[in-house]
Amino acid sequence: MINSRKLIFKDEFLEYGFIATTDKGVIKPQCVICLAVLCPESLKSSQLQKHLRNKHPELADMPKEFFAHKGSQAKKQMLDLMPKVTFDQRDSLRASLEVAWLIARAKSHTTFVRN
Ligand SMILES: [Zn+2]
Repeated sequence: MINSRKLIFKDEFLEYGFIATTDKGVIKPQCVICLAVLCPESLKSSQLQKHLRNKHPELADMPKEFFAHKGSQAKKQMLDLMPKVTFDQRDSLRASLEVAWLIARAKSHTTFVRN
């Protein structure tokens, strides 16, 4: 039997350190501390509390305002980093391919000269 009950993000989830994020149109909970994105089925107080207590026990008793501040920082950080990360990855891939090409060329040249 399919559970048709739709899981929604509640404001109270911020008390457990979670904000809502959307992945391909699906709302998922995201931890504001480690930025881990949990599956949509984890949109339950008990599941989010479990993550907070197991992964960040030292922050389990922090007030909602602390997580609200962390949440706004996390959102800003993600927006700031997204384009840079993509750009850096392309650059590092290009650089590593160029180095690999130069090494391969140098090796084949050395082999050719020796023979
Ligand atoms: Zn976490």
